Amino acid sequence: MKTLFALALACCFSSGDGTVYVCDSPSSVAYHYKRDCRGLNNCKHEVKKTTVSEAEKLGLKLCGWED
Ligand SMILES: [Zn+2]
Repeated sequence: MKTLFALALACCFSSGDGTVYVCDSPSSVAYHYKRDCRGLNNCKHEVKKTTVSEAEKLGLKLCGWED
């Protein structure tokens, strides 16, 4: 699952869909519009760039700290 996610990012990234950031942690539950969001400051793993639709496919929800 994680590998597929990384491959999808590498091969098929497109800009039409909103770019978001996710913490590459097994306990991650949210995606973020801002790389410097305070929700991501707590991330002890790699921060990955993805899209809203990919993040939602992974079951992630919009972070509660966003404006
Ligand atoms: Zn956030």
